[in-house]
Amino acid sequence: MAPIVTPVQTHADVPQKTTVAIIGGGIVGLSAALTLAERGVPVVVFEKGRVVAEQSSRNLGWIRKTNRSPQDAPLAIEADKLWAEMAQRTGSNVGYQQNGILFLADTEELVAANRKWLEAVKDLNIDSRLLSSDEVARLVPGSSRSWQGGLYTASDGYAEPTLAASAIARAAIEKGAIVVENCAVRTLATSGGKVSGVVTERGEIACEHVILAGGLWSRKFLGNLNISLPSLPIIGSVLRTAPMEGPTDIAVAGPDFSFRKRKDGGYTITQRAAMSAPLMPDHARIGLKYVPTLRANWRNLRPSLGRDFFSDYALTRKWKDGRISPFERTRTMDPMANPALIQEAMDNLIAAWPAFKTAEIAETWGGAIDVTPDSLPVMGSVPNWEGLTLATGYSGHGFGTGPAAGQLAADLATGAVPLVDPAPYDIRRFG
Ligand SMILES: Cc1cc2nc3c(=O)[nH]c(=O)nc-3n(C[C@H](O)[C@H](O)[C@H](O)COP(=O)(O)OP(=O)(O)OC[C@H]3O[C@@H](n4cnc5c(N)ncnc54)[C@H](O)[C@@H]3O)c2cc1C
Repeated sequence: MAPIVTPVQTHADVPQKTTVAIIGGGIVGLSAALTLAERGVPVVVFEKGRVVAEQSSRNLGWIRKTNRSPQDAPLAIEADKLWAEMAQRTGSNVGYQQNGILFLADTEELVAANRKWLEAVKDLNIDSRLLSSDEVARLVPGSSRSWQGGLYTASDGYAEPTLAASAIARAAIEKGAIVVENCAVRTLATSGGKVSGVVTERGEIACEHVILAGGLWSRKFLGNLNISLPSLPIIGSVLRTAPMEGPTDIAVAGPDFSFRKRKDGGYTITQRAAMSAPLMPDHARIGLKYVPTLRANWRNLRPSLGRDFFSDYALTRKWKDGRISPFERTRTMDPMANPALIQEAMDNLIAAWPAFKTAEIAETWGGAIDVTPDSLPVMGSVPNWEGLTLATGYSGHGFGTGPAAGQLAADLATGAVPLVDPAPYDIRRFG
């Protein structure tokens, strides 16, 4: 079952023209819309289904710099500032808590990896620090296991995915953005070698700039334009408990579980060492690009070949403006949670923190994640496509950076000074 998002009163009518058209009503597209509306730039968000119904409401809610790629950390640092003012900016409590994040280490190799990461980000002034075994036990009491140590960042935290992006949407609308649901963008219109509009299922809308924030659909959208964006889906399985007493309000990542306190008093839990990987035709097309990452992480994937392969195969890869696109055929990607992974998450967590023995599972859900070969997002312009800005491929960690990623996308689309250096995110890195 999909988590229930707080409602957003969106617009029924589609305008004939705007300045910036945004494809995708997830946290990135909506944050870009809020930024632009605050700057007085006319903006319309097109969402093929309901806003915030895919990744942005199904994630764990972690907002972290810990263990983030040093190239992506500057965006996360900027995001922290935006989260801190989010309640005031949106007029809604989005559940943001700077309660700290702890990554546990159960082997010497993990302690060494944590030390290596600290060394790599030492110039960024992040408050992360290594904890000894005793310090871990003091910080999060009640574990039945003895940990080698941990990596702790007090300034990290979390927010509630079912509250945050919808609050951003409501604030954007209040400030003048137009948000239209059930309106897929099929393709782009061009004129004089430049993007001149979006072709939607309700007709063409003229615009000067387009931001593509389509999550895991961006690869298909760009493929139809002969632009290759390497991105493959994996499915996370998540559960929430009923309200309960727990060991800590710090978000804790163990080797094969993670948990964090929710605003409703429960915990959000996952088996962090395992994701479902339904094999798709795209695995054959671009799988080789993932070999370097897979060498380190293949144990974390549970591949399967089944219905998903054939339903993806059946989706059109090329379509013309007037034809129904794959985006209208799947309004919301709603994968099932994998019951085996839900069970493993609980078993592993109870083995580590017996306090969870009494936890009552209130809900489970699945979420499909768009992963690029280097797990970094793709942001910026596309060669030979003037007027198109990409903001996609957040690879399982784009909720935390979402507000900053949206702002950066708005900057890049309109030629404003970029929030951070976008160079690491350039699509040309894939060749
Ligand atoms: C199980 C799980 C756990 C995660 N945990 C974390 C975490 O703890 N911390 C963290 O930082 N991140 C986490 N993430 C990742 C995070 O959720 C995503 O990186 C982030 O939400 C991406 O936002 P987005 O706006 O790019 O994409 P999405 O939220 O997927 O939004 C894209 C939207 O675009 C729409 N769309 C696509 N194509 C079209 C089209 N042609 N026309 C109109 N609309 C279109 C889609 O319908 C969708 O609503 C997790 C993800 C999952 C699934």
